[in-house]
Amino acid sequence: MQIKLYNTLTRKKEDFVPMHGNEVRMYSCGPTVYSYAHIGNFRSYVFVDNLRRTLEYNGYKLKHVMNITDVGHLESDADEGEDKMVKAAKKEHKSPYEIAEFYTKAFFKDMDKLHIERPEIIAKATDHIQEMLEFVKEIMKNGYAYETSTAIYFDVSKLDKYPVLSNRNLEDQIAGARVDVDPEKRNPYDFAIWIKAPANHIMKWDSPWGPSYPGWHLECSAMSRKYLGEVFDIHTGGVDHIPTHHENEIAQSKGAFGKIPAKTWMHVEFLQVNGGKMSKSLGNVYTISELQEKGIEPLAFKLFCYTAHYRTKLNFTFEGALSSQKALNRLRECYIKHKDGSKKIDQSIIDEYKDQFIKAINDDLNIPLAMSIVWEVARNDCKSKELADLMLEFDKVLGLDLANSEDYIKKQSNIKIPEEIKELLEKRKKAREEKDWTLSDEIRDEIKNKGYTVKDTKDGMTIEKI
Ligand code: AMP
Ligand code: ZN
Repeated sequence: MQIKLYNTLTRKKEDFVPMHGNEVRMYSCGPTVYSYAHIGNFRSYVFVDNLRRTLEYNGYKLKHVMNITDVGHLESDADEGEDKMVKAAKKEHKSPYEIAEFYTKAFFKDMDKLHIERPEIIAKATDHIQEMLEFVKEIMKNGYAYETSTAIYFDVSKLDKYPVLSNRNLEDQIAGARVDVDPEKRNPYDFAIWIKAPANHIMKWDSPWGPSYPGWHLECSAMSRKYLGEVFDIHTGGVDHIPTHHENEIAQSKGAFGKIPAKTWMHVEFLQVNGGKMSKSLGNVYTISELQEKGIEPLAFKLFCYTAHYRTKLNFTFEGALSSQKALNRLRECYIKHKDGSKKIDQSIIDEYKDQFIKAINDDLNIPLAMSIVWEVARNDCKSKELADLMLEFDKVLGLDLANSEDYIKKQSNIKIPEEIKELLEKRKKAREEKDWTLSDEIRDEIKNKGYTVKDTKDGMTIEKI
């Protein structure tokens, strides 16, 4: 069945046809490894996982590259501020390489917890400095870049069209550009592809322009060409990449070899928290481990991501995530009931479910619609092994590890109640003895927010993990 994908470049849903037969060549912008990735970042990798798995479900083979940014990503995407890696290194009194190694490991640990498939190729920016340098030389040779006393800048005015991905109005951008930009820039929206390092800068490499380091956008241009060729099938990232990072990747490739590097550009919308931006200053930047501490499994977060289409904003709340945890437990129970069931179901019903499921995922990854079909299968009264197998087949795309449902449920019933919850239970018991029902209810809500449900029975209180 034909896959349709929304292409930011053409602003249309298009029939997806790979360039190299059965192989799909895809590039995903990966993490900047200067701190723990947050759940917003992981929403974007859950989307990439769904995309990979949908392509695989349709019989395609993947050649998928993801970069690890360990140099050059400045505090602002538009060439301003300090290198995020260098800043973190100073703060943690480590070398940028130690910082990168530590947070790369942490990143993949979380990716594994989320059952996100690994790309075939994982490419570190610092391992590709030579390729980047060659790229800069080509851009220079073709007359698309110029040198100033601080950097090599891409001359955007040399392009036939800029921007091409976003509807951004350059005039507005110029008017809004910061006044303290490098006065040697020819155009305010020119961007640095190669930056000359000040004497005390930690991460720098020799180049024809002295000790320097790459601009952030360059690594993706150089590494995607190295592994996937000049033009490949799909390029992914978050919506924040549209106006600057991906726009500039396109500019660089046009400057070096005259082509837009990918045919289909896909962007995932942001995860918000309590209806607003996730930001350190608001104290609402959560990691996967922090969710776990509150009783939300990584896979429940993955299921939470399935409540919205990847091109719409998704609002994270603990309440919402806790309902996804409950839903995941229910899904596992439904799977087990089918697996242990002895009824028979008509093949035509299975085929119909399959047909609906593939239609949903192939329609620009409509996972929320696909989930509604999964729930129909899960809740089907005819408890049969065929339906359990069908759930496992759908799980090839969802990656919720349903095959191990029994283990998860067992683990949950053996779960140790944390001291903090035990203390709250004691407090609640006392409140009830003193007939302080308001306090008792408040404590019950607090316990619920921490991922446990208290039930009052004739024999006393019971506690369960949500
Ligand atoms: P970074 O490590 O900052 O380079 O970001 C890694 C990926 O996460 C990029 O594809 C970003 O677009 C994406 N991203 C960052 N914040 C969010 C968010 N709140 N929701 C969804 N994706 C995000
Ligand atoms: Zn990138």
